[in-house]
Amino acid sequence: MFTIRARSSSSAARSGTLHLAHGEVRTPAFVPLATKGAVKTLEPRDVAALGYELILANTFHLFLAPGPELVERFGGLHEFMRWSGPIITDSGGFQVFSMGHGGVADEIKGRGRRGASRAGADLAAGGGGSERAAEPSGAILAIEEQGVRFRSYVDGVERFLGPETSMAVQAALGSDIALVFDECTPFHVSRDYTARSMERTHRWLERCLRWHADNGLPGQAVYGIVQGGVERDLREESAATVAAGGCDGMAIGGSLGQDKAQMHEVVSWCAADLERAAPDRPRHLLGIGDVDDLIAGVELGIDTFDCALPTRLGRHGVALVPDPESRWRVDLVKAQWRESAEPIQPGCPCPACGPGFSRGYLHYLLRAGELTALRLVTLHNLTFIGALMSDLRDAIERDELPAVAAGLRKGDAPRSHAGRY
Ligand SMILES: [Zn+2]
Repeated sequence: MFTIRARSSSSAARSGTLHLAHGEVRTPAFVPLATKGAVKTLEPRDVAALGYELILANTFHLFLAPGPELVERFGGLHEFMRWSGPIITDSGGFQVFSMGHGGVADEIKGRGRRGASRAGADLAAGGGGSERAAEPSGAILAIEEQGVRFRSYVDGVERFLGPETSMAVQAALGSDIALVFDECTPFHVSRDYTARSMERTHRWLERCLRWHADNGLPGQAVYGIVQGGVERDLREESAATVAAGGCDGMAIGGSLGQDKAQMHEVVSWCAADLERAAPDRPRHLLGIGDVDDLIAGVELGIDTFDCALPTRLGRHGVALVPDPESRWRVDLVKAQWRESAEPIQPGCPCPACGPGFSRGYLHYLLRAGELTALRLVTLHNLTFIGALMSDLRDAIERDELPAVAAGLRKGDAPRSHAGRY
């Protein structure tokens, strides 16, 4: 299901193609989130026109509403949302565990207890944390060997999600890639807890693979998830176990540490372990999407990334720009743009910059609560990230990754335009 086209001579980076039930995906690739069955503010044709070939939907949310039975009645998620390309579904493990563990989502996202209320501000302040989608406000009732019982944030009803349920939901949704159900271990727990949690994830991996072998959707690929927190030996053991389990691909999940340096270190361990154990299988990094993290991840040999960041920032009026000094962000809500006639990014072909919408106009729309602004900034951000990934892919194939990565890190604008806009 994965062919490697080129390998960088100076790093672990590779470019390739995923061959999935609903089409091919060129890698390295960023995967926009369609958490609840829609890339927020966009239509599928927008996402395709931006050049994206794979989107990520979420099992946890779609399980609770509208429910897999209804989606199946519509012919599966592709038909239901009218997206004809490949879809990867997250297993729901991260979201269900986010309800317990004292706010694992915030912790993994590096938000800590700062209590900031605006996502844009949270993200601007965040460290190397993961941004795996969703912030449910239900409650965990019990974590058992069978799975997790919890109260639904939709209607307060008690629900259950375990390895078999998650795989059954993902089969009903009909995704091209299913992720196994994992326990997402938070950062603050003891090494002992991290080890026991990882072992449970490995037992759940076996059950997911068994369910898939007996009942799974033909043609649906299954990715295992490497856990083990920030413990070097546990990550190594987990990578070896997941690779030996016979998964089609491997995802790196869980807590990646408390800052970017630690995150890059943990990802580098996992990627190196996976390179040894399964050099030809694809690797996905869950919940990471900052510009510098994408560049570093590609250099470490990651093939696909998903993250709420570009779309969530867009909905908060924060645009991505080639400026490392500002962490590649410009907050259009700020008063300083009120009279600015410049576009978000000169030369950008996106539907916000191309027609010449000014920062001043977008600032006004954002302040006025006009939905058009959220859509335009989202389109710009996904154009920016799409071009960045396209530049990195091309650089690997020309074996010029170090120069291109160095340029992007110091603020070169991504040049490629994968989309049709
Ligand atoms: Zn633009």
